[in-house]
Amino acid sequence: ARAQAMEVEERPTVTYADIGGIDDQVREVREAVEMPLIDPERFDTVGIEPPTGVLLHGPPGTGKTMLAKAVANETDATFIKMAGSELVRKFIGEGARLVRDLFELASEHEPAVIFIDEIDAVAAKRTDSKTSGDAEVQRTMMQLLSEMDGFEERGDVSIIAATNRYDMLDRAILRPGRFDRLIEVPKPDIEGREQIFAIHTRGMNLADDVDFEALAEMAEEFSGAEIESLTTEAGMFAIRDERTEVRMADFEEAFEKVTEDESPGTPIAF
Ligand code: ATP
Repeated sequence: ARAQAMEVEERPTVTYADIGGIDDQVREVREAVEMPLIDPERFDTVGIEPPTGVLLHGPPGTGKTMLAKAVANETDATFIKMAGSELVRKFIGEGARLVRDLFELASEHEPAVIFIDEIDAVAAKRTDSKTSGDAEVQRTMMQLLSEMDGFEERGDVSIIAATNRYDMLDRAILRPGRFDRLIEVPKPDIEGREQIFAIHTRGMNLADDVDFEALAEMAEEFSGAEIESLTTEAGMFAIRDERTEVRMADFEEAFEKVTEDESPGTPIAF
């Protein structure tokens, strides 16, 4: 059961160079996760505690999972991913049990990065009757907080959580010693989009007329994930046309296709 709910990657291959447009967020994650591992004395000298948990928040598809994977890569850590929705279980004690298993697995694989996606599934405000009215969900969250309280004895385990619904979170999880480092990961601005186009077309056979600046302008409000889909779609147009090179016109057609029935900014369905 453990293997089903958790996704373990011995060493992710994502690097910081694969992430475009969020340089400040990359720096903040590095400070919060890498520095305490590499140079703990720095925190001692200044006389502050390193952050316990990092919370990444922002719209879907902006690179939150990538950030967590890249930091695991950089620190030679095992990446262990768990979806918050997986922690919501029917039977009493099952969610809490999974949380214990998760932290146990991480300590067996030190150094490790625990990544909990959709943390809002277990950490929504109490006023939200649909989710957190559930006492069982509440218990699972308490188990998570208690595992985090025991952090110091655990050694080289970092914890990163992510949410698209920051406003829904129970503020109790944001207290010092818990998720005490907040990093907002927004949709990319025009320069960010240009970088992300460059990253996702690195392996593509591009014609000379492909203009990243124009593409970035066109893809207003797109997330990184949507830009990735757009580049794939452009490649499909080239294939359909039996060409080996992808032209600007392919990107334009791809753009028309993905914005036809979807307004910009909504996830692209294939
Ligand atoms: P969600 O909230 O939906 O889980 P997320 O923020 O965790 O989304 P990722 O899973 O990191 O998003 O991104 C999905 C894919 O989109 C990545 O694998 C990558 O290909 C692309 N992508 C997203 N953001 C970026 C970015 N900033 N730079 C480059 N690629 C990106």
